[in-house]
Amino acid sequence: MLRWIDVLTFAKYGNPEPPRRVEKTEAEWAAALTPAQYQVLRQHHTEPPYRNAYCRSYEPGRYQCAGCGSLLFDAATKYHAISGWPSFTQPAAPSAIRYHFDDTHHMQRVEVRCNVCGGHLGHVFPDGPAPAGLRYCINSASLVRV
Ligand SMILES: [Zn+2]
Repeated sequence: MLRWIDVLTFAKYGNPEPPRRVEKTEAEWAAALTPAQYQVLRQHHTEPPYRNAYCRSYEPGRYQCAGCGSLLFDAATKYHAISGWPSFTQPAAPSAIRYHFDDTHHMQRVEVRCNVCGGHLGHVFPDGPAPAGLRYCINSASLVRV
């Protein structure tokens, strides 16, 4: 189980090795993704709260990266965070996600990206539920539930 100290350690000293890597040019990404997926995954946009596909969805399943199909989250770790975005307590595997300090918008946050394709997913915060205390706040457009 990952905790906040693990997140900070990854962001500061280096992320876990991904199981594989997917790399494309921006033109290839633009052709492969919907406009909404491209804006989030490749241009780091944030979709509007509550008006996104998986915000209020709690059906069982697994969430894959919309960019490369890698398994990112299990619906069993999804919870209602009242944030307006899908929220998870843990990634599907420690190597599924990479972490980067993000100082934009006058905030100190930790950005989370798919560890396989580098697509922007959202951010992780240390205000999640016990026992791990993590809240992965994720854009629906970066995910596909299967
Ligand atoms: Zn990916």
